[in-house]
Amino acid sequence: MSLTVTPERPLRVAVIGSGPSGIFATEALLKSDLNVDIDVFDRLPTPYGLVRYGVAPDHLTIKSVTRGFEKTLGDPRVRFLGNVEFGTDLTHQDALSHYDAILYTVGASSDRRLGIPGEDLTGSMSATEFVAWYNGHPDAAAREMVLSAGGVAVVGVGNVALDVSRILAKTTAELRSSDIAAHALDALEHSAVKDVWILGRRGPAQAAFTTKELREFGELHESEPVVNPAEIALTDAEEAAITDNVKKKNIEVLRDFAAREREGKPRRVHLRFLVSPTEIIDDGTGHVGGLKVERNRLDENGNAVGTGEYEVLPVQMVLRSVGYRGVALPGVPFDERRGVIPNEEGRVEGRVGEYTAGWIKRGPSGVVGTNRKDATDTVALLLADVKGGALPGAAHPTREAVDALLAGRGVPVYSFADWQTLDAHELATGQAEGRPRRKVVHREMMLGHRRG
Ligand code: NAP
Repeated sequence: MSLTVTPERPLRVAVIGSGPSGIFATEALLKSDLNVDIDVFDRLPTPYGLVRYGVAPDHLTIKSVTRGFEKTLGDPRVRFLGNVEFGTDLTHQDALSHYDAILYTVGASSDRRLGIPGEDLTGSMSATEFVAWYNGHPDAAAREMVLSAGGVAVVGVGNVALDVSRILAKTTAELRSSDIAAHALDALEHSAVKDVWILGRRGPAQAAFTTKELREFGELHESEPVVNPAEIALTDAEEAAITDNVKKKNIEVLRDFAAREREGKPRRVHLRFLVSPTEIIDDGTGHVGGLKVERNRLDENGNAVGTGEYEVLPVQMVLRSVGYRGVALPGVPFDERRGVIPNEEGRVEGRVGEYTAGWIKRGPSGVVGTNRKDATDTVALLLADVKGGALPGAAHPTREAVDALLAGRGVPVYSFADWQTLDAHELATGQAEGRPRRKVVHREMMLGHRRG
């Protein structure tokens, strides 16, 4: 027997992960002509995933997407079930027996490593961890971050590398208008940082960052960009080969930075190209004491090749920003090499009624909006499967059955109304300090804010 959706028997969908992909998928399900009933789960009490915990705190306009997200989660056909961990609080088997379809939209919460000596020294960490810390992610908020480094190397030239470098380069006066976590603002107030080195292993024409983000380094109050003209020089052939407009504009901005007179601002952001870290040097006490880098050249395929020429950068902190990586969900297939759920255009390989969207489907690329089309495409296949009679339908397809299951396990589920209470509290306490928001960063404290 296959599932037949009727006005009395809605299509029950579990969306696992309430970041942009999960919400865009929910939005697409709501737009369908079928009777739908959707439960959106998150392991955190708070919704919106990377929009709350990944997007830079000083890029508030990107976060305005949450106004649409609120409408989606506030729809009567949708419930938000926060603070529910997939795999323990709700197992894969539980999801199969309570939902007709499961949609995995958990993003990519881990990071890639460099694979060089010294990566585990104190002062070396992933940009992901640093971002989680300054954005007040409850898993990172308790971390003590000592910002005693005068020199910081940020490895990688994507937008995340620019985000972390900009946060390090800005003054706390500049950061006050952001929604950066209060503990991070306090720590950055006492930061010793003077020089940030952003390191690209290839040339400026291969950098992954975008122009708006790059330009910001020319507009900071107490920090100036430093670019060595020799490192951004291109031959006529290399220049002619650049077809991408973003890369062309990036190069214009870098040339402008290279041509600028130094203003003597107290902080500098050095944008370096054609260098690869080869070793993080121990200062003798288990801390980062320097970063050894090798100069590269590009081979005929545009890959970086070491030249055997080395230099040591005087840094005491290294943030690797070389990409996020997906993490396996218990009971769900996982491609270890790519860090994604193996899928065919969003249908989980070898599974019926299981789907995926966003970074855990295609890998960590694209901006927030990229996930709208990606999620909508997956939902189109899901709906086609329902209409084509391909889904068997769940054994216990009701809200009450899921609530009973979670209550039986003592899971303190955090609802959308609870989140709205917390949201209002954060906005009010932030505004009282002249800031856009004061984030509550500890899980237990979040759980204390509930609808009355
Ligand atoms: P990304 O854009 O993929 O950049 C990763 C960078 O790491 C690349 O420059 C890459 O260089 C470099 N890299 C990889 N392995 C390396 C190694 N072993 N040694 C040295 N460098 C290495 O990733 P991301 O910065 O994490 O960003 C993820 C996605 O989120 C991107 O699509 C990004 O645009 C988006 N995002 C957007 C914004 C925004 O819109 N403001 C902000 C943050 C993030 P190669 O090219 O040589 O591999």
